Amino acid sequence: MLVAAEIKNLVEPAQLTDLDITWLPADQPTPKGDWVAIVPLLSRWVGGTELKNLPNVRIVANVAVGYNNIDLVAAEMRKVLVTNTPGVLTDATADLTWALILATARRLIEGVDLVRSGQWTGWHPEQLLGLELRGRTLGLFGAGRIGQAVGRRAVPFGLRLLYTARTPKPEFERETGATRVDPTRLFAESDILSLHVPASPETKGIINIESLARMKRGAILINTSRGDLIREEALATALERGQLGAVGLDVYTEEPAIHPRLRAAPRTVLLPHIGSATEETRRKMAAMAIANVQSVLGGKPPLTPVY
Ligand code: NAP
Repeated sequence: MLVAAEIKNLVEPAQLTDLDITWLPADQPTPKGDWVAIVPLLSRWVGGTELKNLPNVRIVANVAVGYNNIDLVAAEMRKVLVTNTPGVLTDATADLTWALILATARRLIEGVDLVRSGQWTGWHPEQLLGLELRGRTLGLFGAGRIGQAVGRRAVPFGLRLLYTARTPKPEFERETGATRVDPTRLFAESDILSLHVPASPETKGIINIESLARMKRGAILINTSRGDLIREEALATALERGQLGAVGLDVYTEEPAIHPRLRAAPRTVLLPHIGSATEETRRKMAAMAIANVQSVLGGKPPLTPVY
């Protein structure tokens, strides 16, 4: 099997004993050959051409919960199974989302820069005034595993919760007092809007000139989902004009490239896609991907199929 070389140190050697592995670094193209499984990172595109070049492949075991780097139609047509790593990264990603919420609301990076620059002249009653969270509205665009975990963490902060999802979440509503609304209301009423839908043709570019114009002036936008959800140029314009209060991002359309105007825009907290980056979570993700391959090669169903 072909396995992303970058997970080598994260996998327990005992899990690999019966496997014949070719380690594939992320900067090398997907080769042609008779491998029966591939375990890619989310940065590797696995489409029709790659699958055609791997005619014996039976499973693509992505080391991520998102799977927008895999052409599902091409995989299904070739009867190739696709798996992801749901659940194990929910807490880590929800924690990082909260790190971005607090960093943007309380202007953490500006404060750090001020201290580091040596320009701080002392306490001032109007210095770096941020957004008080209690009583504000947190809008969740998507309320699956991660969206709900972010929502549950909002309760002690005294935030009012709104969410948009395709199906209602009665237990989440009971637990947190959240209300399901349509996207129009979500955009109009959120003081902080956090994105938790997967990247798909329906969600591509949902943050664009029109939706940004519907947001409250001074609102905060957070994205720890996928870069494809945002039109980065429109977002840069909204920041430059002071239309948005702040933006916290972990993901970008053309990672690792970031739109230069977005990089230069004021009031941003830009992270290098570290949502699931804890030792425990990354180990669990690697183990789950390998376990999916073992299950399928052993004639059993995949543990976490995406379709
Ligand atoms: P999930 O459990 O599948 O939740 C997805 C949510 O999005 C569900 O509530 C779903 O609605 C909703 N949704 C899907 N399509 C929609 C649409 N067109 N309109 C409105 N709502 C829609 O996924 P998850 O585990 O929470 O993960 C969410 C995403 O986070 C992943 O896809 C991945 O891209 C991203 N992620 C990023 C990082 C990172 O490192 N930054 C780490 C982990 C995950 P229903 O519940 O009604 O189906």
